[in-house]
Amino acid sequence: MTITCPICQSTQIRSKDFGRKTGGTIGTIAGAATGAEAGMAAGPVGAIVGGIAGALLGSLCGGAAGAAAGSRFGSVVDDHVLNNYACLDCGYSFSRHHC
Ligand SMILES: [Zn+2]
Repeated sequence: MTITCPICQSTQIRSKDFGRKTGGTIGTIAGAATGAEAGMAAGPVGAIVGGIAGALLGSLCGGAAGAAAGSRFGSVVDDHVLNNYACLDCGYSFSRHHC
């Protein structure tokens, strides 16, 4: 699929993927925080050992799930909301669904 600049018709188009990257990062942080919290709550006996183990495990699982969800959400934002494409010739930013 070839994307052309709506202004100068150049095919030198750069995809910014800003939402995808941001979504993945936010998802990782949110997932890790949620996982850590769940891990803490799940360790009532021996709170220190249980909490640390739970937090580690929760961070790993929650972080991965969060990153996947965040990236998916971010790419939707990229495609539909943000001006995800930038023309390298004239610098114009536009969205693929722009019309
Ligand atoms: Zn252009």
